[in-house]
Amino acid sequence: MNDCLFCKIIAGEIPSTKVYEDEYVYAFRDINPQAPVHVLVLPKEHICCADKIDESNSALVGKCFEAIAKIAAAEGLKNGYRVVNNCGEDGGQTVRHLHFHLLGGKKLPEGMA
Ligand code: 5GP
Ligand code: ZN
Repeated sequence: MNDCLFCKIIAGEIPSTKVYEDEYVYAFRDINPQAPVHVLVLPKEHICCADKIDESNSALVGKCFEAIAKIAAAEGLKNGYRVVNNCGEDGGQTVRHLHFHLLGGKKLPEGMA
């Protein structure tokens, strides 16, 4: 049994505000937005985290970034945006399904850590 929250969101078992979907990628608005636009972009295939990206699945990361470009355009982020991935305990990852935070709609703070 798959207990992954984001797999359940992708399957429609838990509601989400979808902003984009294709064969490989699903994207929805973060429940606790950190910027005017805060979208989570993830591969539909369950990959737990960035350190499990390898040659068998790295094309899905490219698919995520193709989607990010489309979503950013659709959201009107003409002046730029930030993409963040948290990996593991020290990275602050709370949901163990690989995802990219797309943040924008304001001038974001300069600090990274
Ligand atoms: P992480 O900390 O793993 O990088 O990011 C997880 C993100 O998922 C957080 O920004 C959190 O607000 C978001 N999140 C957690 N649970 C839910 C949920 O049920 N629905 C939505 N839309 N976002 C969620
Ligand atoms: Zn999952």
